[in-house]
Amino acid sequence: MFNAILIERDERSYRAAFTALEETRLPDGDVKVRVDYSTLNYKDALAITGKGPVIRRFPMVPGIDFAGTVDESSHPAYVIGDRVLLNGWGVGEHHWGGLAQLARVKSEWLIPLPAALTARQSMAIGTAGYTAMLCIIALERHGVTPESGEILVTGAAGGVGSIAVSVLARLGFRAVAVTGRPAEAEFLKRLGATEILDRAQFASAGKPLGKERWAGAIDVVGSHTLVNVCASMRYRGVVAACGLAGGMDFPATVAPFILRGVTLVGVDSVMCPRADRLDAWRRLSEDLDIDKLELLTEEIGLSQVIDHAAGLLEGRIRGRVVVDTRR
Ligand code: NDP
Repeated sequence: MFNAILIERDERSYRAAFTALEETRLPDGDVKVRVDYSTLNYKDALAITGKGPVIRRFPMVPGIDFAGTVDESSHPAYVIGDRVLLNGWGVGEHHWGGLAQLARVKSEWLIPLPAALTARQSMAIGTAGYTAMLCIIALERHGVTPESGEILVTGAAGGVGSIAVSVLARLGFRAVAVTGRPAEAEFLKRLGATEILDRAQFASAGKPLGKERWAGAIDVVGSHTLVNVCASMRYRGVVAACGLAGGMDFPATVAPFILRGVTLVGVDSVMCPRADRLDAWRRLSEDLDIDKLELLTEEIGLSQVIDHAAGLLEGRIRGRVVVDTRR
């Protein structure tokens, strides 16, 4: 038996429970992993609460990421005892995921745990942090450097945002944090933000073009916020968009793109090719200050995950939530 979060749905109800499951219920896959740590991501919270159509098959063990130790393998790339990491690939959506003590997955979804990180640290980073790094790499690939100018980060007190601010500061960028939580201003300054802006000024419909300020931006919010960010980019500025915490719509004009040459780069972590994942994790193990990671991490046990899910969606959780599967 192993402990897991299990989500079930029928005509009358949608329920998530912390429960013990028979190992024989694990799905097919060529590697079985003893999960040491998982995390609570925005998408996991949508899955657990049923507030977003994340789960494609029921019953489902949620958890879009995990770090652990190989327990069984029929693939030559992995042997018992190997330390591994998984993000995305539909795990926790249509294949049982990481909010459990055991997982069985396809070997090609796994990557080795970076040598410089513990399993706990890698899940404190989690899919949110890995996505933040993909966004930073996207800015760099489009020519944004610390000399280019200020970088705006929205949803800054959340998971993606707090890791983005930390890494940008470590790399020498001037990161300006947008938050709806003034009480977190001191926290964001400690992570390295140079200035804190109120998210209210980005939240409603604005002009097609605003004052040019940002050389780069990382947006987790979408909707009017993303539109207003695009409208205030400097000439040839670059925006990496990865989230929809404020809405999935994009009520924009083309003005920033055709008059200021702004680039809008979409960032997806789920189906991201293996080479890019390995690169992002290598960069995280080099460019993220581990002391800052501790500052932005809260640890909970697997049995507490369901209680924390609603709070995450309501923006009540600061930074990252790492999940110890042993308790
Ligand atoms: P969190 O819940 O940790 O953070 C989201 C933050 O967004 C909140 O902390 C809050 O920041 C801000 N926010 C929330 N609601 C609103 C709103 N209505 N208007 C403006 N700002 C708001 O989530 P994550 O950081 O883990 O994920 C952020 C987004 O990125 C999610 O939409 C998630 O689905 C997406 N994502 C996408 C990935 C991809 O592959 N493309 C991978 C990972 C995440 P504050 O309190 O500072 O204002």
